[in-house]
Amino acid sequence: MNVRDTEVISGLLLKAGFKLVEKPDNADIVILNTCSVRQHAEDVVWSEIGVHKNGKIIGLVGCMAQNYKEQAFQRAPNGNFVVGPSDIAKIPHILKDLLKDKGILERKIWETDGLNRPEEIYHTGYYNDKNHAHLVISEGCSNFCAYCVVPYVRGPERHRRFTDIIKEAEQALDKGINKITLLGQNVNSYKSENADFKELLKRMNAMKDLKEFSFLTSHPKDTDVKLFDAMASLDKLSKWLHLPLQSASDRILKSMKRNYTKDYFLDLTKEYRKIVKGGTLTTDVIVGFPGEAEKDFQETFDLLKKIRFDAAYIFKYSPRPGTEADRTPDDVPQKEKERRHRLILDQQRSLAKKNAKS
Ligand code: SF4
Repeated sequence: MNVRDTEVISGLLLKAGFKLVEKPDNADIVILNTCSVRQHAEDVVWSEIGVHKNGKIIGLVGCMAQNYKEQAFQRAPNGNFVVGPSDIAKIPHILKDLLKDKGILERKIWETDGLNRPEEIYHTGYYNDKNHAHLVISEGCSNFCAYCVVPYVRGPERHRRFTDIIKEAEQALDKGINKITLLGQNVNSYKSENADFKELLKRMNAMKDLKEFSFLTSHPKDTDVKLFDAMASLDKLSKWLHLPLQSASDRILKSMKRNYTKDYFLDLTKEYRKIVKGGTLTTDVIVGFPGEAEKDFQETFDLLKKIRFDAAYIFKYSPRPGTEADRTPDDVPQKEKERRHRLILDQQRSLAKKNAKS
């Protein structure tokens, strides 16, 4: 999502007459498009901001901006503007405003109250990769998983109009792009103009100049065999499915508010393997969620072995301020999180090797 948002911001700025440079050292303006999903991502940005001190205009954009709002200036006094994900359309105007003012480096501007993005921002025609476009189909999320900050920083789930998505896809294809990834926090719940996600996939598959397309990310609770049928039958649709497990302990899944059980998840992956022959299955796992006992961890460890994902992204839980899980003590010691992380990582490496061989 942030890759696409950065392209959108770049496209808006190019349209407004700004230029992109290769290295931040050569820039007059540095904009950091940020992620708040884990503490580590935020730590990296706070230290990166401090590096740019020599009279540049500095902007903090994205989820951290939304999270910290004007308080971001206390952590980063050299910052000039703070803009949340729903307000990125305002960035060219903010910069022009700052540049008009002689005392720019003293000024602080923040925009974090926006609710919706104007549709035009997706039609600047700028793509980083000349062969591959990322297309946002839904913004925000209304699932409120207990550990996740996304619904707070990106707002409730909103779907882009079917016709607007198709128009953007056609514009990308006209530019010579032949690969597209559809993006949303939960693509499976997509609905607009009487069409659902499967309708969108069918329409995409029928695009003449499109060679290949894929989607990210699926929520297991909204994933079903109809999606797998579409994956098996649409020839341009990638057979890769990223299905975040997070935990295989029903007790922990319940506290995470994931709305599925271990058995449901296992059955879903069995159906996927049966229907989508030769598909690639990947996942996300969090270790050390509050209350995760050795027994809970063992269930996750065992299920990963059973499912044999082609790749798994393993994260050590870090509390995100404002989330439901943050109100519960972060009671798994750091050392224990690291041990569980290492155990799963080692197992996953050997499983992925075996999968690749077969
Ligand atoms: S589905 Fe859950 S984990 Fe994914 S973005 Fe929404 S709240 Fe976060």
